[in-house]
Amino acid sequence: MKITSAVATTLAIPEDDPLANMPEEVGRTRPVVILRMRTDNGIEGIGLTFYGGAMTGSLRVAVDELAALTIGEDPLMIERIVRKLRAAAGDNCGPGGIFDLALAAIDIALWDIKGKFLNQPLYKLLGGYRDKVPTYASGSLRRGLSDSQAQRAAQILVQKGFTEMKTQMALPGNPTPAEECRRVRVVREAIGPDIKLMCDINQRWRPEQAIDIGSRIEDVGLFWLEDVTTANDYQGLARVTAALKTPIAGGEYLYGIAPFRQMMEAHSVDIIMVDIIRAGGVTQWMKIAGMAEAFNLPIVSHVMPEILVHLVAAAPNGLTVEYMPWMLALYEETPAIENGMLILPDKPGLGLTFDEAAVKAFTV
Ligand SMILES: [Mg+2]
Repeated sequence: MKITSAVATTLAIPEDDPLANMPEEVGRTRPVVILRMRTDNGIEGIGLTFYGGAMTGSLRVAVDELAALTIGEDPLMIERIVRKLRAAAGDNCGPGGIFDLALAAIDIALWDIKGKFLNQPLYKLLGGYRDKVPTYASGSLRRGLSDSQAQRAAQILVQKGFTEMKTQMALPGNPTPAEECRRVRVVREAIGPDIKLMCDINQRWRPEQAIDIGSRIEDVGLFWLEDVTTANDYQGLARVTAALKTPIAGGEYLYGIAPFRQMMEAHSVDIIMVDIIRAGGVTQWMKIAGMAEAFNLPIVSHVMPEILVHLVAAAPNGLTVEYMPWMLALYEETPAIENGMLILPDKPGLGLTFDEAAVKAFTV
Protein backbone atom coordinates (compact mmCIF):
# COMPACT_ATOMS: atom_id res chain seq x y z
CA MET A 1 0.00 0.00 0.00
CA LYS A 2 1.24 3.49 -0.87
CA ILE A 3 0.06 7.02 -0.12
CA THR A 4 -1.07 8.67 -3.36
CA SER A 5 -2.49 12.05 -2.27
CA ALA A 6 -2.96 14.31 0.72
CA VAL A 7 -4.99 17.50 0.69
CA ALA A 8 -5.41 20.00 3.53
CA THR A 9 -8.37 22.39 3.82
CA THR A 10 -8.95 25.29 6.20
CA LEU A 11 -12.29 25.45 8.01
CA ALA A 12 -13.91 27.91 10.43
CA ILE A 13 -16.11 26.00 12.91
CA PRO A 14 -18.67 27.92 14.96
CA GLU A 15 -17.73 28.22 18.67
CA ASP A 16 -21.13 27.30 20.08
CA ASP A 17 -21.86 25.37 23.27
CA PRO A 18 -23.98 22.36 22.33
CA LEU A 19 -23.82 20.91 25.85
CA ALA A 20 -25.43 23.68 27.92
CA ASN A 21 -26.15 26.28 25.22
CA MET A 22 -24.24 29.09 26.96
CA PRO A 23 -22.08 30.41 24.10
CA GLU A 24 -19.43 32.91 25.12
CA GLU A 25 -19.79 35.07 22.05
CA VAL A 26 -22.32 34.37 19.31
CA GLY A 27 -20.83 34.19 15.82
CA ARG A 28 -17.23 33.48 16.82
CA THR A 29 -15.47 30.66 14.91
CA ARG A 30 -12.45 28.43 15.49
CA PRO A 31 -9.99 27.85 12.62
CA VAL A 32 -9.22 24.18 11.91
CA VAL A 33 -7.16 22.48 9.19
CA ILE A 34 -8.44 19.10 8.04
CA LEU A 35 -6.45 16.58 6.02
CA ARG A 36 -7.61 13.84 3.66
CA MET A 37 -4.93 11.30 2.83
CA ARG A 38 -5.58 8.66 0.18
CA THR A 39 -3.87 5.40 -0.75
CA ASP A 40 -3.49 3.40 -3.97
CA ASN A 41 -6.00 0.80 -2.70
CA GLY A 42 -8.75 3.36 -2.19
CA ILE A 43 -8.50 4.03 1.56
CA GLU A 44 -9.00 7.59 2.82
CA GLY A 45 -7.57 8.52 6.21
CA ILE A 46 -8.63 11.75 7.89
CA GLY A 47 -6.68 13.97 10.22
CA LEU A 48 -6.88 17.50 11.56
CA THR A 49 -4.99 20.15 13.44
CA PHE A 50 -5.52 23.60 14.95
CA TYR A 51 -4.01 26.18 17.37
CA GLY A 52 -2.72 28.07 14.34
CA GLY A 53 -4.71 31.17 15.35
CA ALA A 54 -3.69 34.06 13.11
CA MET A 55 -1.11 31.69 11.51
CA THR A 56 -3.71 29.12 10.39
CA GLY A 57 -2.90 29.82 6.74
CA SER A 58 0.74 28.97 7.48
CA LEU A 59 -0.35 25.85 9.37
CA ARG A 60 -2.33 24.64 6.37
CA VAL A 61 0.69 25.19 4.12
CA ALA A 62 2.88 23.35 6.66
CA VAL A 63 0.48 20.38 6.57
CA ASP A 64 0.48 20.40 2.76
CA GLU A 65 4.28 20.66 2.56
CA LEU A 66 4.88 17.85 5.06
CA ALA A 67 2.10 15.68 3.61
CA ALA A 68 3.65 16.00 0.14
CA LEU A 69 6.70 14.18 1.54
CA THR A 70 4.54 11.17 2.45
CA ILE A 71 3.46 10.51 -1.16
CA GLY A 72 4.73 7.07 -2.22
CA GLU A 73 5.39 5.97 1.37
CA ASP A 74 3.80 2.88 2.96
CA PRO A 75 1.24 4.38 5.42
CA LEU A 76 1.73 1.45 7.81
CA MET A 77 5.36 2.52 8.40
CA ILE A 78 4.37 5.42 10.63
CA GLU A 79 7.58 5.84 12.64
CA ARG A 80 9.59 5.86 9.42
CA ILE A 81 7.38 8.60 8.00
CA VAL A 82 7.62 10.63 11.23
CA ARG A 83 11.43 10.32 11.14
CA LYS A 84 11.46 11.44 7.50
CA LEU A 85 9.35 14.51 8.28
CA ARG A 86 11.52 15.43 11.28
CA ALA A 87 14.65 15.15 9.16
CA ALA A 88 13.05 17.30 6.45
CA ALA A 89 11.85 20.07 8.78
CA GLY A 90 11.29 19.34 12.46
CA ASP A 91 14.94 18.90 13.47
CA ASN A 92 15.68 22.41 12.23
CA CYS A 93 12.56 24.60 12.43
CA GLY A 94 10.87 22.63 15.22
CA PRO A 95 10.15 21.07 17.57
CA GLY A 96 7.80 22.95 19.80
CA GLY A 97 5.53 24.72 17.36
CA ILE A 98 4.01 24.58 13.94
CA PHE A 99 5.96 21.44 13.00
CA ASP A 100 4.33 19.39 15.77
CA LEU A 101 0.89 20.81 14.96
CA ALA A 102 1.25 19.87 11.28
CA LEU A 103 2.74 16.47 12.11
CA ALA A 104 -0.31 15.68 14.26
CA ALA A 105 -2.73 15.94 11.33
CA ILE A 106 -0.58 13.57 9.26
CA ASP A 107 -0.04 11.09 12.08
CA ILE A 108 -3.77 10.95 12.89
CA ALA A 109 -4.59 10.29 9.21
CA LEU A 110 -1.94 7.52 9.06
CA TRP A 111 -3.49 5.76 12.07
CA ASP A 112 -6.95 6.10 10.51
CA ILE A 113 -5.60 4.43 7.35
CA LYS A 114 -3.95 1.66 9.40
CA GLY A 115 -7.24 0.94 11.20
CA LYS A 116 -9.21 0.90 7.96
CA PHE A 117 -6.63 -1.33 6.26
CA LEU A 118 -6.62 -3.82 9.16
CA ASN A 119 -10.39 -3.40 9.67
CA GLN A 120 -9.99 -2.64 13.40
CA PRO A 121 -11.01 0.33 15.55
CA LEU A 122 -8.05 2.45 16.62
CA TYR A 123 -8.28 1.66 20.34
CA LYS A 124 -7.71 -2.03 19.66
CA LEU A 125 -4.61 -1.29 17.57
CA LEU A 126 -3.20 0.92 20.33
CA GLY A 127 -3.55 -1.50 23.21
CA GLY A 128 -7.24 -2.21 23.63
CA TYR A 129 -7.70 -1.92 27.38
CA ARG A 130 -11.50 -1.38 27.55
CA ASP A 131 -14.53 -0.55 25.38
CA LYS A 132 -16.07 2.27 27.41
CA VAL A 133 -14.43 5.12 29.30
CA PRO A 134 -15.54 7.82 31.75
CA THR A 135 -16.00 11.28 30.27
CA TYR A 136 -16.55 14.77 31.64
CA ALA A 137 -18.42 17.75 30.23
CA SER A 138 -16.10 20.60 29.35
CA GLY A 139 -16.39 24.05 27.84
CA SER A 140 -19.75 25.03 29.38
CA LEU A 141 -18.89 26.25 32.90
CA ARG A 142 -16.51 28.99 31.79
CA ARG A 143 -15.05 31.78 33.90
CA GLY A 144 -16.90 34.43 31.89
CA LEU A 145 -20.32 33.31 33.18
CA SER A 146 -22.01 34.79 36.24
CA ASP A 147 -22.39 32.57 39.31
CA SER A 148 -26.06 31.93 38.51
CA GLN A 149 -25.33 31.15 34.84
CA ALA A 150 -22.62 28.71 35.93
CA GLN A 151 -25.05 27.05 38.35
CA ARG A 152 -27.73 26.80 35.67
CA ALA A 153 -25.29 25.36 33.12
CA ALA A 154 -24.02 22.83 35.68
CA GLN A 155 -27.58 21.67 36.39
CA ILE A 156 -28.25 21.26 32.66
CA LEU A 157 -25.16 19.04 32.40
CA VAL A 158 -26.35 16.90 35.33
CA GLN A 159 -29.79 16.60 33.70
CA LYS A 160 -28.07 15.44 30.52
CA GLY A 161 -26.50 12.58 32.48
CA PHE A 162 -22.95 13.85 32.95
CA THR A 163 -21.38 12.59 36.17
CA GLU A 164 -18.15 14.57 35.73
CA MET A 165 -17.71 18.20 34.65
CA LYS A 166 -15.13 20.96 34.60
CA THR A 167 -15.39 24.61 35.53
CA GLN A 168 -12.82 27.40 35.64
CA MET A 169 -11.31 29.83 38.13
CA ALA A 170 -8.92 32.75 37.59
CA LEU A 171 -12.09 34.76 37.04
CA PRO A 172 -12.00 37.96 34.96
CA GLY A 173 -11.58 41.38 36.60
CA ASN A 174 -8.93 40.88 39.29
CA PRO A 175 -11.11 39.00 41.82
CA THR A 176 -10.14 38.54 45.46
CA PRO A 177 -9.23 35.01 46.62
CA ALA A 178 -12.62 34.87 48.37
CA GLU A 179 -14.44 35.69 45.10
CA GLU A 180 -12.47 32.96 43.31
CA CYS A 181 -13.45 30.44 45.97
CA ARG A 182 -17.11 31.41 45.78
CA ARG A 183 -17.33 30.28 42.12
CA VAL A 184 -16.40 26.66 42.78
CA ARG A 185 -18.55 26.59 45.90
CA VAL A 186 -21.71 27.70 44.06
CA VAL A 187 -21.08 25.18 41.29
CA ARG A 188 -20.56 22.42 43.85
CA GLU A 189 -23.78 23.53 45.57
CA ALA A 190 -25.68 23.25 42.25
CA ILE A 191 -24.52 19.72 41.45
CA GLY A 192 -24.30 18.09 44.88
CA PRO A 193 -21.42 16.15 46.44
CA ASP A 194 -21.31 13.11 44.14
CA ILE A 195 -20.54 14.68 40.77
CA LYS A 196 -16.83 14.80 39.97
CA LEU A 197 -15.86 18.45 39.54
CA MET A 198 -12.62 19.64 37.95
CA CYS A 199 -11.41 23.23 37.72
CA ASP A 200 -9.10 24.77 35.11
CA ILE A 201 -6.86 27.79 35.77
CA ASN A 202 -5.32 27.87 32.26
CA GLN A 203 -1.89 28.96 33.64
CA ARG A 204 -3.27 32.22 35.06
CA TRP A 205 -2.07 32.02 38.67
CA ARG A 206 1.29 32.40 40.36
CA PRO A 207 2.38 29.25 42.27
CA GLU A 208 1.85 31.01 45.64
CA GLN A 209 -1.62 32.13 44.53
CA ALA A 210 -2.45 28.53 43.59
CA ILE A 211 -1.34 27.32 47.02
CA ASP A 212 -3.35 30.08 48.77
CA ILE A 213 -6.62 29.68 46.84
CA GLY A 214 -6.20 25.93 46.41
CA SER A 215 -5.85 25.41 50.17
CA ARG A 216 -9.00 27.50 50.86
CA ILE A 217 -11.12 25.18 48.68
CA GLU A 218 -9.79 21.76 49.70
CA ASP A 219 -13.22 21.02 51.27
CA VAL A 220 -14.94 21.43 47.86
CA GLY A 221 -13.42 18.08 46.92
CA LEU A 222 -12.24 18.90 43.42
CA PHE A 223 -11.33 15.87 41.29
CA TRP A 224 -8.43 17.95 40.00
CA LEU A 225 -7.15 21.51 39.69
CA GLU A 226 -5.67 22.09 36.22
CA ASP A 227 -2.79 24.17 34.84
CA VAL A 228 -2.49 26.21 38.02
CA THR A 229 0.56 28.12 36.74
CA THR A 230 2.87 28.49 33.72
CA ALA A 231 3.00 25.07 32.05
CA ASN A 232 6.79 24.73 31.88
CA ASP A 233 7.44 26.00 35.42
CA TYR A 234 8.05 22.40 36.47
CA GLN A 235 9.42 23.36 39.90
CA GLY A 236 6.65 25.88 40.62
CA LEU A 237 4.04 23.28 39.72
CA ALA A 238 5.80 20.79 41.97
CA ARG A 239 5.57 23.20 44.92
CA VAL A 240 1.80 23.53 44.40
CA THR A 241 1.36 19.78 43.96
CA ALA A 242 3.28 19.10 47.17
CA ALA A 243 1.33 21.73 49.12
CA LEU A 244 -2.25 20.75 48.18
CA LYS A 245 -4.32 17.66 48.89
CA THR A 246 -6.36 18.32 45.72
CA PRO A 247 -4.77 16.48 42.74
CA ILE A 248 -3.05 18.79 40.24
CA ALA A 249 -3.37 18.12 36.50
CA GLY A 250 -1.25 19.59 33.71
CA GLY A 251 0.58 19.05 30.44
CA GLU A 252 -1.82 20.13 27.68
CA TYR A 253 0.38 23.11 26.71
CA LEU A 254 3.58 21.07 26.25
CA TYR A 255 4.90 20.17 22.79
CA GLY A 256 6.32 16.79 21.79
CA ILE A 257 7.32 14.14 24.30
CA ALA A 258 10.55 15.32 25.97
CA PRO A 259 9.00 18.04 28.21
CA PHE A 260 6.87 15.35 29.86
CA ARG A 261 10.06 13.70 31.09
CA GLN A 262 10.94 16.94 32.89
CA MET A 263 7.40 17.28 34.23
CA MET A 264 7.30 13.73 35.59
CA GLU A 265 10.81 13.73 37.03
CA ALA A 266 10.05 16.99 38.86
CA HIS A 267 6.79 15.55 40.29
CA SER A 268 5.08 18.64 38.84
CA VAL A 269 1.57 17.16 38.65
CA ASP A 270 -0.53 14.25 39.88
CA ILE A 271 -2.40 13.75 36.59
CA ILE A 272 -0.80 14.03 33.14
CA MET A 273 -2.92 15.77 30.49
CA VAL A 274 -1.72 15.45 26.90
CA ASP A 275 -2.94 17.39 23.90
CA ILE A 276 -2.71 15.16 20.82
CA ILE A 277 -2.10 18.10 18.48
CA ARG A 278 0.79 19.64 20.43
CA ALA A 279 2.22 16.18 21.17
CA GLY A 280 2.46 15.51 17.42
CA GLY A 281 -0.31 12.93 16.98
CA VAL A 282 -1.43 9.50 18.14
CA THR A 283 2.06 7.96 18.06
CA GLN A 284 3.55 10.52 20.45
CA TRP A 285 0.46 10.65 22.73
CA MET A 286 0.73 6.92 23.38
CA LYS A 287 4.46 7.22 24.17
CA ILE A 288 3.66 9.84 26.82
CA ALA A 289 0.91 7.57 28.20
CA GLY A 290 3.50 4.80 28.60
CA MET A 291 5.94 7.19 30.26
CA ALA A 292 3.20 8.27 32.70
CA GLU A 293 2.38 4.63 33.47
CA ALA A 294 5.99 4.02 34.44
CA PHE A 295 5.76 7.00 36.82
CA ASN A 296 2.52 5.58 38.31
CA LEU A 297 0.54 8.56 36.98
CA PRO A 298 -2.90 8.57 35.35
CA ILE A 299 -3.29 10.17 31.92
CA VAL A 300 -6.17 12.28 30.60
CA SER A 301 -7.00 13.74 27.20
CA HIS A 302 -7.48 17.29 25.96
CA VAL A 303 -10.35 18.20 23.57
CA MET A 304 -11.60 16.10 20.58
CA PRO A 305 -13.31 13.29 22.54
CA GLU A 306 -14.34 11.68 19.23
CA ILE A 307 -10.66 10.85 18.63
CA LEU A 308 -9.18 10.78 22.13
CA VAL A 309 -11.71 8.21 23.32
CA HIS A 310 -9.60 5.63 21.47
CA LEU A 311 -6.34 6.67 23.15
CA VAL A 312 -7.70 6.84 26.69
CA ALA A 313 -9.45 3.46 26.16
CA ALA A 314 -6.18 1.94 24.95
CA ALA A 315 -4.07 3.09 27.92
CA PRO A 316 -4.38 1.11 31.18
CA ASN A 317 -3.64 4.35 33.08
CA GLY A 318 -6.27 6.34 31.10
CA LEU A 319 -8.51 8.13 33.60
CA THR A 320 -11.22 10.08 31.76
CA VAL A 321 -11.95 11.78 28.42
CA GLU A 322 -12.57 15.51 28.16
CA TYR A 323 -15.91 15.88 26.37
CA MET A 324 -15.14 19.17 24.65
CA PRO A 325 -17.62 19.42 21.75
CA TRP A 326 -15.57 21.81 19.55
CA MET A 327 -15.36 19.52 16.50
CA LEU A 328 -18.43 17.27 16.81
CA ALA A 329 -20.26 19.14 14.04
CA LEU A 330 -17.61 17.97 11.55
CA TYR A 331 -18.75 14.35 11.58
CA GLU A 332 -21.79 12.32 10.56
CA GLU A 333 -21.71 10.47 13.88
CA THR A 334 -19.62 10.63 17.07
CA PRO A 335 -19.30 8.19 20.00
CA ALA A 336 -22.40 7.89 22.22
CA ILE A 337 -22.46 8.61 25.95
CA GLU A 338 -24.28 6.13 28.20
CA ASN A 339 -24.43 6.58 31.99
CA GLY A 340 -21.58 9.08 31.90
CA MET A 341 -19.36 6.73 29.85
CA LEU A 342 -18.23 7.13 26.25
CA ILE A 343 -18.85 4.01 24.19
CA LEU A 344 -16.03 3.03 21.83
CA PRO A 345 -17.05 2.71 18.17
CA ASP A 346 -16.53 -0.65 16.46
CA LYS A 347 -15.92 0.89 13.04
CA PRO A 348 -12.36 0.68 11.68
CA GLY A 349 -9.78 3.41 12.30
CA LEU A 350 -11.09 6.53 13.99
CA GLY A 351 -14.63 5.41 13.18
CA LEU A 352 -15.40 8.92 11.95
CA THR A 353 -16.78 10.17 8.64
CA PHE A 354 -16.79 13.83 7.69
CA ASP A 355 -20.25 15.31 7.27
CA GLU A 356 -19.55 16.67 3.79
CA ALA A 357 -22.31 19.27 3.97
CA ALA A 358 -20.85 20.63 7.22
CA VAL A 359 -17.30 20.61 5.81
CA LYS A 360 -18.56 22.54 2.79
CA ALA A 361 -20.38 25.05 4.97
CA PHE A 362 -17.30 25.59 7.21
CA THR A 363 -14.75 25.84 4.37
CA VAL A 364 -13.19 29.30 4.16
MG1 LIG B 1 -7.16 22.95 30.28
